Amino acid sequence: MLETLLLNILFLIFPLLLFVIFFDNRKHFYNIVFLIAFATISMILCMVYPIHLDIGFIFDLRYIPFIIVALYGGFWKVLPLFIVLNVYRFIIGGEGTIQSLLFSSSIFIIVPFLSKIFLRVNTQKRILIGVSAAIFTMGFYLTTLSTFFDVLTQEFWLLAFYSLTTHVVVIILIMLMIEKALDNIKSRENFLHAERLHVMSELTASVSHEIRNPLTVTNGFLQLLKESKNVSVAEKMYIDFSLKELERAEQIVSDFLAFAKPQSENMVYANLEEEFRYVKNILMPYAKMNRVEIECHFTNTLKLKYDKNQMQQCLLNLLKNGIEAMKENGGILTIEVCDFDQNIIITVQDSGIGMTKDEIKNLGKPYYSTKKEGTGLGMLMVYGTICKVKGKIDVESKKGKGTTFTITIPV
Ligand code: ADP
Ligand code: MG
Repeated sequence: MLETLLLNILFLIFPLLLFVIFFDNRKHFYNIVFLIAFATISMILCMVYPIHLDIGFIFDLRYIPFIIVALYGGFWKVLPLFIVLNVYRFIIGGEGTIQSLLFSSSIFIIVPFLSKIFLRVNTQKRILIGVSAAIFTMGFYLTTLSTFFDVLTQEFWLLAFYSLTTHVVVIILIMLMIEKALDNIKSRENFLHAERLHVMSELTASVSHEIRNPLTVTNGFLQLLKESKNVSVAEKMYIDFSLKELERAEQIVSDFLAFAKPQSENMVYANLEEEFRYVKNILMPYAKMNRVEIECHFTNTLKLKYDKNQMQQCLLNLLKNGIEAMKENGGILTIEVCDFDQNIIITVQDSGIGMTKDEIKNLGKPYYSTKKEGTGLGMLMVYGTICKVKGKIDVESKKGKGTTFTITIPV
């Protein structure tokens, strides 16, 4: 029994191994195709080389890749497995083909339902869901099988015991590995992001200051020149253009400075309410101009240590983006700040233009902007500030529907 069991575990681990070695740094469509193909192959291999019990029975682990793909991928991704499973079963033929079809159909209908919830919860709960799905599948299978027996012999109960424990242990093992692999990918991305922010802030702090002074001086002289009686109308226009561009340059520099400034004198210990109120007041005229209404629900009681100016700038950027996303048709910008389980949860929701998955991935990269007048520094600053208070940002967005930013800050 042991040899066949180990062989089956090898079949199941193989796709995971390939994923970790070859595919984990690219999220292309063909990666998913490969993964599904490999999962299908390991399912077939499990069927071809079943586990032999000493009592004479055999069982196999075909439903483990099936359940895993159903949970991580949902209906459409498990469909190829479902088809291949039944086609293969049909080719083998013999007794129980119809039962197998009915059985796999019910698993195919039930398990992917859990996928949506599954993807939203943490590792422990995911494993719990995976184990429940495996127990349910095997329990269902054994119940069906028991109807073929006149009396339930000791062998049947042994088979039930072995197949259930094997399924549970193997699915825990595989899911632990998958979760760890996914976690590693996430940590690596976070690390890269933090490193990028760090380099940015080092660089910008030194350069921005040096640029601001010449900008201010140029601005002053241009203003003087504009007052002069000797300049023609056309020349005045040129000066106005120059002033406008200077203003823009100053805007970029101050965005940079706000991002980089080390400000220990600004540290406060508070619950963010004042910052939200301040930012909301500042943005009111801008929101009105774009027919956006700002709704704010504040119930947070937890306090936190943070840099006041930086936090204001961060919230300003976040809310401004929300308003700008609804420029076309107006709308409501909903802000909710509450506490949950020693975390401060900030939700900023707009019903604006939304983003595609690729656009979400680009958020927080320096100079990434889709706006004509954008600097692409706002979100960088947001990520930088939230990173400093050890918070995390989740973005949920649908193109054309709107965006929700959920910021979780542990206290
Ligand atoms: P900027 O606002 O100057 O373009 P940001 O760093 O603030 O730069 O934002 C970067 C990009 O992220 C924006 O150009 C926009 O495409 C996208 N973005 C940010 N917030 C939202 C939002 N709430 N809705 C839609 N797109 C957004
Ligand atoms: Mg912005």
